[in-house]
Amino acid sequence: MPNFCVNKNAQSTGEHEVHNLDANCSYLPDVVNRFQLGSFATCRGAVTEAEKTYSEVDGCAYCASDCHTK
Ligand SMILES: [Zn+2]
Repeated sequence: MPNFCVNKNAQSTGEHEVHNLDANCSYLPDVVNRFQLGSFATCRGAVTEAEKTYSEVDGCAYCASDCHTK
């Protein structure tokens, strides 16, 4: 299962983006800004986990496009 992280820094629009660390995403946050979520079968589980910490969460348009809503 892929590993996911969420950006500790919010986007300018307020949401924290979830990234798939195993997808070679070009838009990963800097290592210090990655909050490790763990491994999940799909980005949905990672988003749910991230929502325990941040109220506004969205999937990255590139590596978690199934969870990208904004
Ligand atoms: Zn990404």
